[in-house]
Amino acid sequence: MRVDPRRMRERMVEEQIVARGVTDRRVLDVLRELPRHLFVEEAMAKQAYMDCPLPIGEGQTISQPYIVALMTELLQVGAGMKVLEIGTGSGYQAAVLAKLGADVHTVERIPRLCEMARQRLLSLGLFNVHVKLDDGTLGWPSIAPFDRILVTAGGPEVPAPLVEQLAEGGRMVMPVGPARRLQRLVLVEKKDGAALSRDICGVQFVDLVGAHGW
Ligand code: SAH
Repeated sequence: MRVDPRRMRERMVEEQIVARGVTDRRVLDVLRELPRHLFVEEAMAKQAYMDCPLPIGEGQTISQPYIVALMTELLQVGAGMKVLEIGTGSGYQAAVLAKLGADVHTVERIPRLCEMARQRLLSLGLFNVHVKLDDGTLGWPSIAPFDRILVTAGGPEVPAPLVEQLAEGGRMVMPVGPARRLQRLVLVEKKDGAALSRDICGVQFVDLVGAHGW
């Protein structure tokens, strides 16, 4: 790339993310560091720091940088936490969680994306990410409970297995909506065994496809 990716990331963070109110320093620092252009196809590298989602093949997208920042901030991830992500896609969000020191488990249903993300994460030396090919609406029962769960595809409701697999005191962030591509970002907190949901904002994600999705 002719333009310095480090400068592009700095601008991305200031103009798209800080400007919209994200303040978590650790999240901002990770987004300044992580080479987002390595998570898209080479022909798209120049667009990687633009204020929009981008295609990653198979009809799927890497989320807009601001949305990645917002969801990560809402999740309040601490080092050493066990985190489940549904919808690995490019692996970018998983890499953000890994850079925050989490023990990341991420599930993708499309074989090609799963394999590409696995290789990309390994080549970046992010060994604290475990990638599985499966229907993520079923969670990852053998690893549960999770301190944090992040769903990066939109479904009609919060899948019951994910609520079950969320630890007491845990937080989950997910786009939920009555129709495809029309969702509200929801923050779920589990307290005394009950799941309390809070509406955050409107979002547009690709479909969560599976037993507890579309
Ligand atoms: N987090 C990704 C973007 C995700 S796009 C990133 O950082 O690039 C949404 C992804 O969810 C797509 O790759 C899609 O294939 C996947 N997906 C949809 N339904 C799924 C399911 N039930 N289980 C696992 N992955 C799913």
